[in-house]
Amino acid sequence: MTNINYIGTRDKNISVTASQAILKGICDDGGLFIPNEIPLIDKTLEELSKLSYKDLAYEILKLYLTDFTEEELKNCINKAYDQKFDTPDIAPVVKKGDVSILELFHGKTIAFKDMALSILPYFMTTAANKNGMDKKIVILTATSGDTGKAALEGFANVEGINIIVFFPETGVSPVQKLQMVTQKGDNTCAVGINGNFDDAQTAVKTIFTDESMKKELNEKGFVFSSANSINIGRLVPQIVYYFNAYFRMAENGDIKIGEKINVSVPTGNFGNILAGYFAYKMGLPVKTFICASNKNNVLTDFFNTGVYNKNREFYVTKSPSMDILVSSNIERLICMLSSQEKTKEVMDDLKNKGEYNIDLTKDIIKGYFASEEETSAAISDMYNKNKYVIDTHTAVAYAAYQKYKKDTSDNTPCVVVSTASPYKFAKDVLISLGKNCDNIEISELMKELEKVSNVAIPAPVDGIEKREIIHKTVINKYDIKDFIKEKLLK
Ligand SMILES: *Cc1c(COP(=O)(O)O)cnc(C)c1O
Repeated sequence: MTNINYIGTRDKNISVTASQAILKGICDDGGLFIPNEIPLIDKTLEELSKLSYKDLAYEILKLYLTDFTEEELKNCINKAYDQKFDTPDIAPVVKKGDVSILELFHGKTIAFKDMALSILPYFMTTAANKNGMDKKIVILTATSGDTGKAALEGFANVEGINIIVFFPETGVSPVQKLQMVTQKGDNTCAVGINGNFDDAQTAVKTIFTDESMKKELNEKGFVFSSANSINIGRLVPQIVYYFNAYFRMAENGDIKIGEKINVSVPTGNFGNILAGYFAYKMGLPVKTFICASNKNNVLTDFFNTGVYNKNREFYVTKSPSMDILVSSNIERLICMLSSQEKTKEVMDDLKNKGEYNIDLTKDIIKGYFASEEETSAAISDMYNKNKYVIDTHTAVAYAAYQKYKKDTSDNTPCVVVSTASPYKFAKDVLISLGKNCDNIEISELMKELEKVSNVAIPAPVDGIEKREIIHKTVINKYDIKDFIKEKLLK
């Protein structure tokens, strides 16, 4: 097997092992780690199609985390993908009308972030042992709602690790917020900020490149890492479920193995869809990726014109986990399709002008977006046709796919990636289905959704409004750095 190293997107001379990349999270120069080459699958699609989710995970992960032993990897996989998931399939695929739906919300926080954040803590502790780490790892995480909870849940009570999560105080759904502020575990901390996701993400990324801050905390025994999708340990486990989706579609009789599929992904930070793109580069037969955005459609414009321009209004939408204007992982795609020199140039442009230009319009990723009205209409359309309730993010991907199909008449079998349970966004989902939700408590909304969807309230959110609020701090977006110092050095 080829040994894979991780190089910087802005400097190809930065080169570390997989375990080091996971520990660091991000390069010292602010660039991201990418594998020095994309490994090809070393078994046939037929062979891989017969594997369980865990065995498939091993076949993919071993190609990327080449400094982990077989025993270490299997141990991580077994601990991650166990009864925490409410189905042994881990990521089931169901056919609904003209699409297959890849359900990625069967983990502990009922959003797709669980797919990677269930395993990242095990990668992290394995990597720390491997590299003789003698410091306490502090995971800094900016969240648009779902990463925060999934990371808190994944890292709660993990020895040698502290986790601090920053979420936009008024930019997440009520259930998302409750999930975070009721998190147990002495090593966990969730903080609301007066700002949006981009503010939180920029502040956290700045800390990773702040040499004096890092040095100061290092002397006190702390090192920083990230649980955001800038961490390669998030990206790699996400590749697995694209292969899984393909094989389940074949099993369902929707495709023959070898045939191409289309993939529609509700996109924010571009981490999920990028993992799909890695799967494609490894040998998964994909014709088109539909990069689905909500009203914050900076990526739609980018894939249509080659101009990325973040200088625009920021909207809080009913798909809050996609309310992002600076999509971090696009940097990896740019580097893969151009060079470190070009990537550095465009990232400098983004920093200085809020805008850059690089033409990726010829690639197989196509940008489409759904307005707020189209998102609601997609929820009711799916329900009316199939009695199946999708969440607001999945609805964006479903609506974007329908627009793509209308534009191109491309009838290639399509998988829509479903990133959250509708229970996480119960109110907006019910409103889209024409229900009156004024002044109705969360618990009542969930009961109503249970009636409508015929799917039981998932255990992780059942009774959530009665849990004790543990994390109450709200800070200004400019005070993130001071807050971290105070928290760790007190
Ligand atoms: C995080 C998230 C997204 C966006 O995923 P990216 O990897 O950031 O593009 C979409 N939907 C839901 C429900 C999410 O939690």
